Amino acid sequence: MKYCQRCLYPENHPLNITFDEEGVCSGCRIHEEKDSLDWKERGKKLKEILGRFKSSSKHNYDCIIPVSGARDSYFIVHTIKNVYGLKPLLVTYNKQYNTELGIRNLAYLQTLFDCDLLSMTVDPNVVKKITRVSLLKMGSIYWHCLAGQTVFPVQIAVRFKIPLIIWGAHQGCDQVGMFSHLDEVEMTRKYRKEHDLMGYEAQDLVDEALRLSAQEVQPFLYPHDKEIEQVGVRGIYLSNYIRWDSKKQHEEMIKLYGYESFPLEKTFDTYNDVDCYNYADVHDYIKFVKYGYGKVTDHASREIRLKRLTREEGIGLVEKYQNKKPKNLNLFLRWLKLSENGFNFLINRHRDKLVWEKTENDEWRLKDSILNHKNDHDVDAVRLEKKEVNDFQITPLRKQKSAEERYILVGKGHL
Ligand SMILES: [Zn+2]
Repeated sequence: MKYCQRCLYPENHPLNITFDEEGVCSGCRIHEEKDSLDWKERGKKLKEILGRFKSSSKHNYDCIIPVSGARDSYFIVHTIKNVYGLKPLLVTYNKQYNTELGIRNLAYLQTLFDCDLLSMTVDPNVVKKITRVSLLKMGSIYWHCLAGQTVFPVQIAVRFKIPLIIWGAHQGCDQVGMFSHLDEVEMTRKYRKEHDLMGYEAQDLVDEALRLSAQEVQPFLYPHDKEIEQVGVRGIYLSNYIRWDSKKQHEEMIKLYGYESFPLEKTFDTYNDVDCYNYADVHDYIKFVKYGYGKVTDHASREIRLKRLTREEGIGLVEKYQNKKPKNLNLFLRWLKLSENGFNFLINRHRDKLVWEKTENDEWRLKDSILNHKNDHDVDAVRLEKKEVNDFQITPLRKQKSAEERYILVGKGHL
């Protein structure tokens, strides 16, 4: 298996990655733009775009911001509302795997920024059925989250005639360098289907045997092209206009608004995925089973590119976290009424044979891993000099209120 000589990505990265003659991946090469682009100029461009959508009427929303209880939500709302002065409508798809801390972060987001928030909770029984089907078809427990998060804002944009949706980072650009920042790539139905949804639209999940009907997947249907055109819906990514550094951004939000962080079982990043008990846990375990690497590789690669980790330190972190068992697997299996054997059967079907093989004892073995590529011969030639420390904070939790007060915070939106 080929591994990037600068970061830790393997050639079987599911978003597609290419390597140049120095053995450096496309993600690392595009990432170099972060240190060469004129971000002041890029910021002006953003201001110009946003200016076009600023409504003259005080009664209208200027844009939609999809939010959650983590992952850049505070930063995006802060930037759009407090820095650029737009009036956003916040929308959230309830992924139903929420941690208490995530619920609290979202509740405080509402109260701290004085914004309106629309949320969508799909019938929990339908979500379970969808999860059974998506596990079977694509070995994913996260399809409904990704589908909901990427479609609900578009549905609301069409329904309320608010043409602009504002997203944070574009993974195709930030992770794998599929696009340059200068391409200013925007949200498309095609990218969503191919990459976010692993090739499956909602209608492809309808399954008679598993009793999932066309009606039940309706909340996940993308609006018709005609409706999108009529409103002129566009989705832009802030990472094309702001030098994206999620660690720095989260730390600013901790300082300004008391955003809460939390230690996670399978990665050192205590900021991004604290609102979900499955994402950096069962979902991450499945990623490892499929591709032979997990989120900690994503996070370490990002930090290597941002010059806060050496490649060797990154490999050390992968070694520390990669093989940790998911903490919440039993909780997930109980929720879905699935046995561990059944679960293993379903996900083993999706192992990438490029990196996995069966032993004589019928056990799965990794053919290769970044751990075997610490001393690859081209590493020094393309090395970035480490400039900062990689010190993810763990914030003190917000003062624990009584159960009653917690409900008031979530329900009324203020204490
Ligand atoms: Zn790389």
